Amino acid sequence: MVMSLLYRSTRSADVKVTASQAILKGLAADGGLYVPESIPALDVSLEELAGMDYREVAYEVMKLFITDFTEEELKNCINKAYDSKFDTDEIAPLVNADGAYFLELFHGATIAFKDMALSILPHLLTTSARKNNIKNDIVILTATSGDTGKAALAGFADVKGTKIIVFYPKHGVSPIQEKQMVTQKGDNTYVVGIEGNFDDAQTGVKTMFGDSELAKELDANGFQFSSANSINIGRLVPQVVYYVYAYTRLLANNEIKNGDRINVVVPTGNFGNILAAYYAKNMGLPIAKLICASNENKVLFDFFKTGTYDRNREFVLTSSPSMDILISSNLERLIYRIAGDDANTNKELMDSLKKDGRYTITDDMRAKLEDFYGNYASEAETAEAIKSIYYNTGYVIDTHTAVAASVYKKYVAETSDETKTVIASTASPFKFTRSVMDAIDKAKYDKMTDFELVDELSRIANVAVPQAIEDIRTAPVLHDRVCDKTEMKAVVKDILGIK
Ligand SMILES: *Cc1c(COP(=O)(O)O)cnc(C)c1O
Repeated sequence: MVMSLLYRSTRSADVKVTASQAILKGLAADGGLYVPESIPALDVSLEELAGMDYREVAYEVMKLFITDFTEEELKNCINKAYDSKFDTDEIAPLVNADGAYFLELFHGATIAFKDMALSILPHLLTTSARKNNIKNDIVILTATSGDTGKAALAGFADVKGTKIIVFYPKHGVSPIQEKQMVTQKGDNTYVVGIEGNFDDAQTGVKTMFGDSELAKELDANGFQFSSANSINIGRLVPQVVYYVYAYTRLLANNEIKNGDRINVVVPTGNFGNILAAYYAKNMGLPIAKLICASNENKVLFDFFKTGTYDRNREFVLTSSPSMDILISSNLERLIYRIAGDDANTNKELMDSLKKDGRYTITDDMRAKLEDFYGNYASEAETAEAIKSIYYNTGYVIDTHTAVAASVYKKYVAETSDETKTVIASTASPFKFTRSVMDAIDKAKYDKMTDFELVDELSRIANVAVPQAIEDIRTAPVLHDRVCDKTEMKAVVKDILGIK
């Protein structure tokens, strides 16, 4: 019998909700993030887990966090998520190359790690709605600069009781990203280009979330909004699973002995993926160092080095765009924890971040960060990592994973630590073909078109072109709606048939 686990807000002491309520709400009303009251310990042995498949491991981990779902409800969610949408039954295979184990988190529908959580979130959400007697259909409203929109569309497509509407800047995403979105299938999916930039799309969506008149009109028509944002606990918990899975695969393959500690390297943006690794460690998984890898937007490297988080700096556009972030939202959950689960201290720091763009933690708090190591890779170092791993081993990694591989090299050079290490591999190289092929041999590949490069990558890496890429070549455009940034609300009402 699992004890029931409640969730608190990182910004006030008096909030207590169930897991399903936290999943439904996303963000606490005080602006804080939901955190478990305590981090549960694994209650089956690592040897037992080593004998289980991905779905079984997922159940053993997630049941400890989502305690108000029945066994049947949770297993249903897991089975609907981790199925043939993934191109391998292993779901998240480990590849041993160049002195590390690459945990490939990109075998889902959109060939990036967001699929690991976004393929299960729709099922967690609809189950949570049922448990809380919500009769309305859930309408997911999202603004995207490219990648999250597609992963959310793929996750929610044809999920009963939901609709998803994605707004993207019509002239602000790559041609491949646009093609991925406008070819999305599913009767409940809607994709709308706006005449405006990403900030306009984001502001429009936020305004609709805060519009109480609109909420009433939706309710009268049997709808309510929800968000698939990366701070939702329903996205964090599924990410804990694959660290437990990775460790137990190493155990099953006799690469480590039970109890041996491993290091984990995570290419980091919003701090969600590495926070999941930290939660896994706190559950009792034998992880030694958590190595946080940044690109040239190295706000986290500076934070780990100095104890000051400072977003006042120039935003750099890099070849690892999913890590181009100056406010790592999920870091707030770590700050809360190292403040001794003290919401007041955390709130003061977050207020300071909002007002001045910076905050400094105390020496006591810094002492609790000793499990973390932060570093960053420049654009040249990132390209060099892709090139050298390819020439040394034949294995081709994407730009985000290359940031992690490069930082791992720096870590080993600094520490001589020989602990076996798992690198989170967050995107397929096919998702960033141009940058990857440029890194390998720019002079040779410069003149090729995007699809010629895809075929060439398939040849040199000896990996079949993923279905997600094949789809872009041939799939028909199913969405062609474009609106002005001022018309977003009218479009939503039109889509939902609200007069
Ligand atoms: C989102 C993303 C990241 C960053 O993950 P966070 O959880 O935001 O730190 C890294 N790589 C890829 C490919 C991503 O899509």
